[in-house]
Amino acid sequence: MSEHEPVVLGQPTVGDEELAAVAEVFRSGWLAGAGPACRRFEERFAKTVGTAHALTTSNCGSALFLGLRVLGVKPGDEVIVGDYTFPATGHAVLQAGATPVFADIRPDVWSADPASIEALITPRTVGILAVDVAGQPGDFDEYRAIADKHGLWLFEDAACAAGATYKTRPAGSLADLAAFSFHGRKGITAGEGGALVSDREDLIAHARKLHTYGIEPAITREGSGALPIPEFHELGYNFRLSDVQAAIMNVQLDRLPDLLAARRSVAKRYHEAFENLPGIDVPVELPDREHPWQAYILTVAPEIDRDALALRIREQGVQCNFGTYASHLQPIYGKKQTLPVSADLFARHLAIPMHANLTDAQVDRVIGTVSAALPS
Ligand SMILES: *Cc1c(COP(=O)(O)O)cnc(C)c1O
Repeated sequence: MSEHEPVVLGQPTVGDEELAAVAEVFRSGWLAGAGPACRRFEERFAKTVGTAHALTTSNCGSALFLGLRVLGVKPGDEVIVGDYTFPATGHAVLQAGATPVFADIRPDVWSADPASIEALITPRTVGILAVDVAGQPGDFDEYRAIADKHGLWLFEDAACAAGATYKTRPAGSLADLAAFSFHGRKGITAGEGGALVSDREDLIAHARKLHTYGIEPAITREGSGALPIPEFHELGYNFRLSDVQAAIMNVQLDRLPDLLAARRSVAKRYHEAFENLPGIDVPVELPDREHPWQAYILTVAPEIDRDALALRIREQGVQCNFGTYASHLQPIYGKKQTLPVSADLFARHLAIPMHANLTDAQVDRVIGTVSAALPS
């Protein structure tokens, strides 16, 4: 890669193995969703994330929505949502007809602050939808204690968290349900895609029906010796992952340990370069968690103009961006709340290139560019 080509913020790691897996699906003739490749991936992914069951979905947004549906969320309900996230999280609650109530975040790791959650509970609250921000799991022991105390369910938005752990337990196994994303910006990807995982067979079986228009997928009717004619009892959707995508995901799952190691080594180099630099703080990895480094986000000091800094870095061909969204500030949600920590970090975060293909030379270039762009 030439010195003048931009260093991109995120990039998938895909190649000949994925192409070969896709070719095999072409030969098999089953390109639609909920087929053999999906099944194989679901079994393997459930093992990876430490749950009994997994369902592949078209994306994480549909997995979140299906999860809320099978948990019985309905109009009038309130769901407490970690504020700092891509708004797919809050959108899923609105799509289910309920109201998202956003919880302010921990200033160090940006996941929902347990004290903030507890203060938001009302008689209408039905559950907690907690986000693993940039993939690092939130405080799930504390979330569980609050949920149990108030009779709420707990749902993990693990969109960015494949391969992360919390007290040695894998992300995905930390709540009643968890949703993952396989979008191109996440740690493992088929371009688009998602999964809903749980130990609870009833929830996943119900979601499986809803994700295929409200009936059992065709594969489960094959070879039964009879001519089962499905009946439609419930409004379902087509939220299936295709077998073409599942074949890609099967290869991505094999790559997961290497991809995590590559991201971790980039994070380590950034950390060493930036931890003593005035004007920016490096992201925190808590000692009881393994961060999957879906993103590497610096916090810019209040006296520095984050936007101007970002533009100076971009001018040098190094991509960078804000962190993620303070949901409560998005007009769609009615701007009804004041959450100072999330609002502050939304204005001060700076995401810099993080993916598994970064070369040492590119990491050097990012470090040099960011350091030089900081006001002296
Ligand atoms: C990316 C992301 C989503 C949405 O994932 P899609 O697969 O694009 O639907 C949801 N939540 C979080 C925290 C994300 O980062």
